[in-house]
Amino acid sequence: MMNLSSTMKAYGCRYCVSPLKQLLHTTNHHLRFRPRSPPLFSSSFNNLKLPNFNLLLTYNSLFFTTEHLWGRSGMNTNKKMVEHLQQYGVISSEKVARVMETIDRALFVPDRTPAYADCPQEIGYNATISAPHMHATCLQLLEEKLQPGMHALDVGSGTGYLTSCFAMMVGPQGRAIGVEHIPELVASSINNIEKSAAAPLLKKGSLSMHVGDGREGWPECAPYDAIHVGAAAPEMPQALLDQLKPGGRMVIPVGNIFQDLKVVDKNPDGSISIRSESSVRYVPLTSRDAQLQS
Ligand code: SAH
Repeated sequence: MMNLSSTMKAYGCRYCVSPLKQLLHTTNHHLRFRPRSPPLFSSSFNNLKLPNFNLLLTYNSLFFTTEHLWGRSGMNTNKKMVEHLQQYGVISSEKVARVMETIDRALFVPDRTPAYADCPQEIGYNATISAPHMHATCLQLLEEKLQPGMHALDVGSGTGYLTSCFAMMVGPQGRAIGVEHIPELVASSINNIEKSAAAPLLKKGSLSMHVGDGREGWPECAPYDAIHVGAAAPEMPQALLDQLKPGGRMVIPVGNIFQDLKVVDKNPDGSISIRSESSVRYVPLTSRDAQLQS
């Protein structure tokens, strides 16, 4: 199977039409990728309310979604979701496929939302669970730093989905820490995890979820081999750079309206290398008040 993802991300610019997209459009109509058009209303028509346009813009990857395609193919199991991500080149790693199969996304999304559609879903408090292709992308970018026994920090842990995947990958000898500033989301993430395959790790303490301002990281368990930030920082947070191990990697969306998913490597001598992976759209990494008022 042709691996499309790396090519696609290279054209993750908001104003250009990806040559890959053009190619797919002209060569095979079943393989048409296009930016997702979000539904206009977030609730049923019986309970009509205005859409949260800011949240609906969190695609997350501006030029990639398979939802359009999946809508036609009866995407109704977690396994099928993973198979499609593999089929379309988003997941190339066997390990990432296995962990996403093991942690059922349906346990982490609110009731009555299409759990396996390739789009973010609102989870309350002006937050979203990221789209499956973004979860897969971030897991792959961090895979090397999520080996058994390693330490991982998930900032803006929301539903706890990705923190659970990290915990499964680093195993009982490792540590996976989730930090989220909305206490209600931390409480519901713990409920979600308790129903999932990661429950024994939560019980054992190698997986833990905390209320806190993620811009400060979680110094108690630092340094980390892997840091994932699930919300867009206006600029690179120094505390997170400081808590990265030499040899460690952080994946973080940076920017305001225009955001780039940055891959930050701390080299063994402590110097930092940064590259942009793709253009994305995430909710902001901000204060609790600013988020609740947005
Ligand atoms: N990655 C998660 C959630 C992504 S949404 C998932 O897929 O389920 C981004 C999350 O970051 C939200 O839950 C939001 O509440 C949280 N967040 C935003 N700013 C934060 C901050 N300063 N500290 C901690 N969490 C923050």
